[in-house]
Amino acid sequence: MAVPLPTSTSAPVAPQARPAAADLRLPRRLQWGLLLAVLAPTLLLLALATYSLHQSRQQYEDRAVLLTQNLAGALDRSVSANVEKIDLMLSSLVDHLERQLATGPLDLDAAEGHIQSQMVLRARIEGLRVADAQGRGIAGPGLRTGTVTDFSDRAWFIAQRDAADSLLHMSQPLRSKLNGHWIVSFSRRYRHPDGRFAGAVSAAVPLTYFSAQLQGIDAGPHGMVSLRDPQLGLIARHNGGLAAADEAVGTQQVSVELRTLVTLGRAQATYRALSPLDGAPRIFSYRRLSVVPLVVVVGINSADYLQGWQAEARHMAALGGLILLLALTGGALLWRMLRAHQRARQRIELLANVFDSAGAAIMVSDYTHHIIDVNPAFSRQTGYSAQAIIGQHIAVFNAARVRRSDMAAVEATLAADGLWRGEYWCRASDGREYPALLSISVLRDADGQPTNRIFSAIDITESKRAQEEIRHLALHDALTQLPNRENLLGRLTQALAAARRDSLGLAMLFIDMDRFKTINDTLGHHVGDGLLVQVGQRLRALVRDGDIVARLGGDEFVVVLTQCALPGDRAATAVARKITAALGQPYQVAQHLLRSTPSIGVSLFPADGEDPSTLMRHADTAMYQAKAKGRNGHQFYTAAMNQASSERLALEAGLHTAIERGELHLHFQPQVDLPSGQVVCLEALLRWRHPTLGNVPPLKFIPVAEDTGLIEPIGDWVMDQALAQLALWRADGLPRLRVAVNLSAQQMRDDRFALRVAQALARHQLPGDALELEITESVAMHDPTRTAVLLRQLRQQGVALAIDDFGTGHSSLAYLKQLPLSCLKLDRSFVMDIEHDPNDAAICTATIQMAHSLGLGVVAEGVETAAQLEFLRRLGCDVVQGYHFSRPLPPDEAGQFLHEHAAAATA
Ligand code: C2E
Ligand code: CA
Ligand code: CA
Repeated sequence: MAVPLPTSTSAPVAPQARPAAADLRLPRRLQWGLLLAVLAPTLLLLALATYSLHQSRQQYEDRAVLLTQNLAGALDRSVSANVEKIDLMLSSLVDHLERQLATGPLDLDAAEGHIQSQMVLRARIEGLRVADAQGRGIAGPGLRTGTVTDFSDRAWFIAQRDAADSLLHMSQPLRSKLNGHWIVSFSRRYRHPDGRFAGAVSAAVPLTYFSAQLQGIDAGPHGMVSLRDPQLGLIARHNGGLAAADEAVGTQQVSVELRTLVTLGRAQATYRALSPLDGAPRIFSYRRLSVVPLVVVVGINSADYLQGWQAEARHMAALGGLILLLALTGGALLWRMLRAHQRARQRIELLANVFDSAGAAIMVSDYTHHIIDVNPAFSRQTGYSAQAIIGQHIAVFNAARVRRSDMAAVEATLAADGLWRGEYWCRASDGREYPALLSISVLRDADGQPTNRIFSAIDITESKRAQEEIRHLALHDALTQLPNRENLLGRLTQALAAARRDSLGLAMLFIDMDRFKTINDTLGHHVGDGLLVQVGQRLRALVRDGDIVARLGGDEFVVVLTQCALPGDRAATAVARKITAALGQPYQVAQHLLRSTPSIGVSLFPADGEDPSTLMRHADTAMYQAKAKGRNGHQFYTAAMNQASSERLALEAGLHTAIERGELHLHFQPQVDLPSGQVVCLEALLRWRHPTLGNVPPLKFIPVAEDTGLIEPIGDWVMDQALAQLALWRADGLPRLRVAVNLSAQQMRDDRFALRVAQALARHQLPGDALELEITESVAMHDPTRTAVLLRQLRQQGVALAIDDFGTGHSSLAYLKQLPLSCLKLDRSFVMDIEHDPNDAAICTATIQMAHSLGLGVVAEGVETAAQLEFLRRLGCDVVQGYHFSRPLPPDEAGQFLHEHAAAATA
């Protein structure tokens, strides 16, 4: 990784270890501990508060107990005091009466007076009466004036009369007979001086008298105070704010607790009970009075005695709620803080992971431009370990080739934008320099001061290489690795500019390999490719470094000779000759030893053109001319050639419509059987009468038809026409005549070719042996297995198969032997000099012998003279064909020839 930092001499900072993300982890136990620390005191506080409330309630209740006891005591004293007053009154009357009796009979007036005085004192006493020993009322309000009142049946009288001792007696509550008020009566007896029973006194006390006592007792707003007789019958009740129920007097409706305590004989006790009156819970104290057999009961309602406590509890609850709320809020806040902390920690962990596992090398520097951290990818990319590099100045990564001006530009961008991105040359620890896609960002603190830089670098060596490769592929031919057409144009343009500048010439050689197409078509593309590669190598070896060798495609190559002395023809001729010689050498491709020759067209700068396309077009034209001139040689471009090349274009265009326009027709050339002298076969040869070019020879247009693919429809047409013509001749008295048709390689590539032949034969109702097919050696050698299958299919139909132009190719006899052939056609070139050239004669002799030994017939082509005929006859040749007998003839002339020849032969 490189750094655009020209000069900085600040001291390196101490290496700073990046804290591991794990260090930031807050232990889960600590998290819970924190939460507990907040919540536990709160809970403790609440527990304490609850406890203290409970204690306080206890105190309130204790106080209530004490209060009821005190009140009961107070009531006891007050009632007892009042009863004592009544008793005092009765005792004083008894005293008064007994004193009179001690002195004589009773003075009732005096007694009445005493009673009056007492009644005045005790206004609430309703009646103070005196009864004699028989129970007759003798004194008291209303007794002396009215009729005699008899008390002998009254409970108090009976009680006093029958009592053994002088006692204060209190009656059950009863309704006053005088005014209907509830009263109790108190009574005492009085005695004669000798102790005999003299009578009794009684005082009626209204219950309201006691009620008033009770009212003096404050048992709270909901308290209850009651006074009861020993049987617990109600005497008086004070219900706090409640109205006293008069009619309840005497009722014994009391709680179970009270009844139990009284039954147990307890003088006083405190208990809790639900009041039978209103069902409210109360604390009760009861007490048996000391002076009279009465019971006081004081009850304080919990609503009253707990009032203070309830207020306290409410306060406490409010406070507790507040504390709990605060604690919960605090807890929630703490929880959120912990969660936030956890998320932050996770984020830090994630970022650390991102940093560590990022594919790009990342480096962080401080504001002094010293490295403070790097990731593993950095170490992988640069070879520096983190320990080794932390603390170093970032400039160590600058490749030597980085210029100061580049660094300054990066610094300027960083200063302006805080970010720089681009390609940068970096240096690894081993000194290797590599291109990287570098991005630098500047981090700033809150004040905008730069604190750090983050460098992220991706090594793009590979992608650069790939780019280079793509560029190379785009500009080079994949097969030969030579520059392609585009590349050639570029280089040619440069070379032309240089030549123009230096006033030098330039030669362009357009090279096309002869019959390459056949090699490709017959031996397969891989063989053709192998040949092209070797052609490229030979060309490259022939020229100077500054010259250009390019492949345009197919078997077309271009050699450009730059920097030639003007006009350039001498250099071009020399190189063309060298090329012709070099490319004419055999090629070993796989198991094949191949031969091919170049046809070279030459154009010169500036004579033939001043721009790349003109030079190329003219060199191409010259190349066609070289081909037309018999191949294996070179031609310089001449203006006249333009015409030839436009001719070829015209041929191509015309051929497309030749069939429809009826411009094609067939000529037939007879083949004569030597022993019998009979015409056994006619070779169909194609003719084209072009509307403007006139008769075009097949050697000119058949290659064009093959190049353009038109050979297939044309070939079909030839077959059909030839068979149609044969059918006519056969019908016309020549039933054994055959017709020979030439095939191009392309036609045989169709898998259904045998079928098409069968269909053509059927169309004209001809047997298979009416047809002979001629194929050249190279066609026969192509894709041997497939060809063998196809030829066998044809042979099975009876079709005869001939190898055309035999001797010119390089076919292996061993292979040909395996094909179901009928005959070989000895090439014209051997026949031509057969009498004079012993070589040719030897070839012909050997071929005929060998063919015969393989069971094949031999047809000699191009027999022009009687001498040739004689020679061939002596060699045992089977069939001859040539001008000596006949040129190829239009159908009607051929028919005529057949008839004449048949007549001559018979003659
Ligand atoms: P080829 O098959 O070798 O045909 C024989 C050629 O030799 C014919 O030329 C014929 O006119 C010529 N010839 C015959 N006897 C003599 C002679 O005594 N002396 C001389 N000098 N020449 C003689 P042509 O008709 O110009 O055909 C040239 C080539 O064109 C043929 O060579 C054949 O390869 C091709 N060709 C012709 N017609 C067809 C066709 O229908 N289909 C295909 N695929 N090729 C054809
Ligand atoms: Ca032929
Ligand atoms: Ca031939």
